[in-house]
Amino acid sequence: MPSFAARVVRWQRTHGRHDLPWQRTRDPYRVWLSEVMLQQTQVATVLRYYAPFLERFPDVRALAAAPLDDVLARWSGLGYYSRARNLHRCAQVVVSDHGGRFPGRASALAALPGIGRSTAAAIAAFCFGERAAILDGNVKRVLARVRAFDGDLAEPRAVDALWREAEALLPARDVDVYTQGLMDLGATVCLARAPHCLLCPVQPACSASQAGTPEVYPVKRRRARRSAREHAWLCLERGDRVWLVQRPPSGIWAGLWSWPELDSREALAALSAAWPGRGHWLPSFTHVLTHLDWTLHPLRWTLPRAMRAADVAAITARWPEGRWFTRAEARDAGLPSPVRRLLTPDDGAAVVRAARPSAEGNRRRARAASSGRAAP
Ligand code: SF4
Repeated sequence: MPSFAARVVRWQRTHGRHDLPWQRTRDPYRVWLSEVMLQQTQVATVLRYYAPFLERFPDVRALAAAPLDDVLARWSGLGYYSRARNLHRCAQVVVSDHGGRFPGRASALAALPGIGRSTAAAIAAFCFGERAAILDGNVKRVLARVRAFDGDLAEPRAVDALWREAEALLPARDVDVYTQGLMDLGATVCLARAPHCLLCPVQPACSASQAGTPEVYPVKRRRARRSAREHAWLCLERGDRVWLVQRPPSGIWAGLWSWPELDSREALAALSAAWPGRGHWLPSFTHVLTHLDWTLHPLRWTLPRAMRAADVAAITARWPEGRWFTRAEARDAGLPSPVRRLLTPDDGAAVVRAARPSAEGNRRRARAASSGRAAP
């Protein structure tokens, strides 16, 4: 009977994916970029970002030399922005410590900022043919099912044991095809729900499928605790300009540009009560981050064009880390997707003066807030 690895390799050659842009190269810069973009993000989304990013930053030196703001702007909409910051930092280390060349071993790649063990192994396998095991989320699922591995993957000890399984299954050759095959299996056949076992090349070797229990695996008992918070956003505009503030260098959306934030609708209503111009509340919504449901209440406030510069400055002085952007400039800046969506002027429906809303009204609005899961 062919080995597990032989089945994966044979299947990848005939049924796997071969036409993704990052599969046509052994350039570690391009492979690394694709691997980082693909973490937590679907292929269809990455395809929209990959080529424009390479056009702006064609090699590791160009990326290292670019301002972080520029990198965040090109990443804008992909979410999980720590990836972009690490990407930038990693490029700088590759240039400063390695002469602009990525190291050729997985162990050295894993020492670079933002490159985890699995990503390092994928780069080493694809670009340098190293016999190194990967274990990203999809591959964990495939291997846990094949081995009916019932260790709790919330526990580091169990993850270590699965790494040992991954290493034991590695073929002696064709490790690049095998690595791609595992990725393709996880992405297209061994799906989290309703895996296509009848189409799967490793079904005869899969313990979970043989037992009729593939969806029992992988086992993960400890769930991350979710939290919730609420803020009011001030979408301040004057003519074609909007006032955005740069977020702190750590925490949610670190370093990106966002709307000024207040603790509550009441606080924002009170603050803006005496301002000239007109304001209206936009629909509240809940933005879902990895461990946080964040409900946001945006208030769009339009200052009169004729206002004196000193009076405008008196309002914006509260956010010294902010500045005015034209809408075109803002679209080119690093903005989280919910901030970007609110850049477009609305039609002013349901315009109200920014009166202090009642607590019950707030509760009703929060209950009605959209619960759509948005990309971070
Ligand atoms: Fe996944 Fe089913 Fe294939 Fe097993 S046989 S690896 S459960 S798709």
